Amino acid sequence: MASENTKQSESGGAKITVDPPDPPLSAQECISEQPEDPCAIVIMGATGDLTARKLIPALFNLYRNGGLPDPCMVVGCGRTKMSTEDFRDRMTKAIITEDSPDHSKWQVFVTSLHYRPIVYDDLNSFDQLAASLRNLDQKHRTRGNKIFYLALPPSLYKPVAQMLGKAGLSNERQHENGWSRLVVEKPFGRDLESAIDLDRGIHQYFTEHQIFRIDHYLAKETVQNVLMFRFANAIFEPVWNRRYIDHISITATETLGVEHRAGYYEQAGVLRDMFQNHMMQLLALTAMEPPSRFEADYVRDERIKVFRALRPFPIDSVREYLLLGQYEKGTINGEKVPAYRQEPGVNSDSLTPTFARMKIFVDNWRWQGVPFFLTSGKRLAQKITEIAIQFKEVPHSMFRRILGGDITANRLIMGIYPEEKITLTFQTKHPGARVCLRSVTMDFNYHQNSQGPVLDAYEKVLLDCMLGDQMLFWRQDGVELCWSFLTPILSECETCGYRADMLQMYESGSWGPQAAEALNVH
Ligand code: NDP
Repeated sequence: MASENTKQSESGGAKITVDPPDPPLSAQECISEQPEDPCAIVIMGATGDLTARKLIPALFNLYRNGGLPDPCMVVGCGRTKMSTEDFRDRMTKAIITEDSPDHSKWQVFVTSLHYRPIVYDDLNSFDQLAASLRNLDQKHRTRGNKIFYLALPPSLYKPVAQMLGKAGLSNERQHENGWSRLVVEKPFGRDLESAIDLDRGIHQYFTEHQIFRIDHYLAKETVQNVLMFRFANAIFEPVWNRRYIDHISITATETLGVEHRAGYYEQAGVLRDMFQNHMMQLLALTAMEPPSRFEADYVRDERIKVFRALRPFPIDSVREYLLLGQYEKGTINGEKVPAYRQEPGVNSDSLTPTFARMKIFVDNWRWQGVPFFLTSGKRLAQKITEIAIQFKEVPHSMFRRILGGDITANRLIMGIYPEEKITLTFQTKHPGARVCLRSVTMDFNYHQNSQGPVLDAYEKVLLDCMLGDQMLFWRQDGVELCWSFLTPILSECETCGYRADMLQMYESGSWGPQAAEALNVH
């Protein structure tokens, strides 16, 4: 008999239950550790999209849920001349609407926002910033703790980090435990050489423990859950290898086009925008060995071993392992959308890929011969992020004589978006007198029996930075290993004679170029 908590799902599958149900956690408990060190968060490029859409909303949410240290001051910097009052008004307009809850909390939070115009190539301007941070420190007792968040165009990461260093802002007050941290957004370079150059530039003034290279995918709750699922259960690890797994598909598709970021995207394309960072991190979490401790460097070491084991890409037969595409006009959610080449800011004969499917292998004992298919693209039929583990068929089907045909192999899907869930597909007997099989699913919804607030990825990133926990951030050796893998592919694709020929056009709203399926063949 089904237990009280086990329900029949609508698709006829059984639903997994959390047993016993979790007691509801309070908002504070869900925030995990609350950072104790007071600090000032200095956002360089605070007039931009990232600040208004992600950073300030994340900080406000942390504040609402009691997750910020007290005090926590935010200083926005930019070339735009603006007063602190103007900045506060601007953030209020961008974030608070009539229907927003917690108006009264915002009124308090907004008083922690400040603004300082800055000239990025003028050391004097940085000296003035340093002086104003000292004043803020004395007034609000932030104990000299500072986070510098580079929400700037990538070309400014290195010069701005160096100006901060020259103005003495990277210095840590060892004797008072005062710290200075630098947060760097993707992209970390555009190839191996530029990534090394960027790193050397930043390292002139900041040491590795001060540098937080963000990959907000890693901070998504369900992405972190991959490690919990794999390493907090005894039953999955024994089958998590070449003996039982046929192939693994990692997918991150979106319905959005290039939006207003054509300037950046034309230079980047899907491989730099998605593969060099997010896709590689999803691959590492899926393929890594269990670390001996759940601590930043132990976990990062294991992720990096996966990058080290990537089989060098067969450049001579690149088209057998990589398919690139670009979207044409089409319809998404009932709305007509233009082709990539007709988007504002895009070259009318652009060869920038907006879709890629790549087949790669991890050359180690566990994964020898198991293909990993990485797929990402814009303007596709649906926004989906998931890791699908396709198991092998049963070695021998004793049912073949009565049932004929093949038995569908097991499949485990770790859904990250839109549904945050884990689904296991397996075979059971169809009810009734006849012997026949049917595929059923067991679904675990990530939020099942949980009532606490979930941390948005940027909230988690900011929180970890305040705590000084680098587990979910890139380490430079990982950045370089991934660029070492990807740079030869990029240079082949961007310089070869068959560049235009390689690009398969696909209709917006479809699932990408039809030829992409061919890459799935072993
Ligand atoms: P924006 O293009 O909005 O630029 C941020 C600010 O930088 C601008 O408001 C502007 O401020 C300043 N700026 C822009 N161009 C120049 C220039 N040529 N020289 C000097 N200053 C300039 O960037 P976003 O806010 O969208 O992104 C910031 C960083 O975060 C980028 O590196 C991006 O790749 C990364 N990122 C962004 C994401 C997003 O969702 N937006 C997601 C993931 C990463 P002012 O003129 O006042 O100085």
